Amino acid sequence: MSAVSRTSAMLVAALLAACATTALGKAPEPVTAIVGVTVIHPERAADAAVAKNSTVIIVGNRIETVGPSETTRLPAGATVIDGKGKWVVPGLVDSHIHFFQSGNLYTRPDVADFRRWMPYKEEVARNQARLPTTFKVWLASGVTSVVDVGGPFWNFEIRDTARRNPAAPRVAVAGPLLSTIDDSPLDLGDPPIIKVTTTDEARALVRRELERKPDFIKFWFIYDKGDDLTAREAIVKAAADAAHAAGVRFAVHATELAVAKAALRAGADYLVHSVEDEPIDAEFIALARGRHALYCPTLFVLMGYDYALSGTWEATEAEQRLADPEILGAMHDLKRIPKELIPERLTKRMNERKPVALPLVAMQNLRKVWDAGIPVAMGTDAGNIGTLHGPAVFREMELMREAGLTPLEVLRSATVNGALALGMERDLGAIAPGKLADLVILDADPLADVANLSRASRVFKDGKSFVPADLIRSLQ
Ligand SMILES: [Zn+2]
Repeated sequence: MSAVSRTSAMLVAALLAACATTALGKAPEPVTAIVGVTVIHPERAADAAVAKNSTVIIVGNRIETVGPSETTRLPAGATVIDGKGKWVVPGLVDSHIHFFQSGNLYTRPDVADFRRWMPYKEEVARNQARLPTTFKVWLASGVTSVVDVGGPFWNFEIRDTARRNPAAPRVAVAGPLLSTIDDSPLDLGDPPIIKVTTTDEARALVRRELERKPDFIKFWFIYDKGDDLTAREAIVKAAADAAHAAGVRFAVHATELAVAKAALRAGADYLVHSVEDEPIDAEFIALARGRHALYCPTLFVLMGYDYALSGTWEATEAEQRLADPEILGAMHDLKRIPKELIPERLTKRMNERKPVALPLVAMQNLRKVWDAGIPVAMGTDAGNIGTLHGPAVFREMELMREAGLTPLEVLRSATVNGALALGMERDLGAIAPGKLADLVILDADPLADVANLSRASRVFKDGKSFVPADLIRSLQ
């Protein structure tokens, strides 16, 4: 570069810097100080995770300072929040959800067919129209980011809508699930699940999705006894290779040990469910470690189906406070639907009155996966029947606790490891200087009881403050 052009480059740089300063000068960034609060650091070991009597200073959308209240000076003009008797944790991340599903009885006609009572088209239109509400229930539950791991192509528009809407969580998305099987009841012209039967078809669909800049390519790896697993693995691998060539991570639904191993061999970066059929083994652990794969347990989701479709679903206390009232109101519709419109299979199930079972194998595997050092991301599979957007996280975290994780480990999976799932580990997952200001102020100690994570009195997302009760009151 010549001396002249270097000088002009410096001039331009100086001018640009001056412009930026003027622009900032016009609108000073809001400053908030949370004073006297107990900060929980889920990224740290248990003996260093709690910092009592701390001050957290938020400038604009970032955390600027975290320090002892005694020695941390408050900036002039800061809005001060009294944090005495309160706890602050990083914003929660649900690493497995689906916006195209609502959690009610009508949202999966391929599993439970109520279409003669409620057309699926109406259910999906309702979900689309209801998005601003769904965004708010996530925030009210302290969940400041979600990963939608698969839906119709309009999933990409949901991500755009969330980016424009301040009262929305951060949203990462996958487009339609590539699948080894058909799922036609869900096809309204923009299906959430698309069957691919050859490696070429798999690559072609990945290419179509890559145009929309997905955060993940997702494969629904369904395997039935008698299927040729090796042939299927080749199709999954073709999709994985195409995703990786574009620098996009590859998420796989694979719930049996043999299939999960095949998924990892094919290139899975993210297993979006537990291995639920048998105990994981050394080979699985080696494969998962080799790929640095993330693991999402989704312990509650099948119980949600069982409760809802046997007529025994009851809202938890957190769901009563924080779920979308319209969905809550529809959860007992089985009592309203004329008997002749209920599929026979479900009537039988209701009459059986079988108690809902815990996913014991998945729970045992969770502890093993955790102890093997495979990062576990908390995720609910919200939107499936009986698993409600927002407060379902508290059901899920309670089960993780029952599976043997400590409250701090559960919180780590919902924050530090959630940031990994989002691909935002540099910006999220901890209360630390420089991180984005996504955090939750709690009225009760989350390390004494994970249920206390539902006790948010204030939620910050990207530096903006929300009061959960106000968010819920504002729902139509
Ligand atoms: Zn799912």
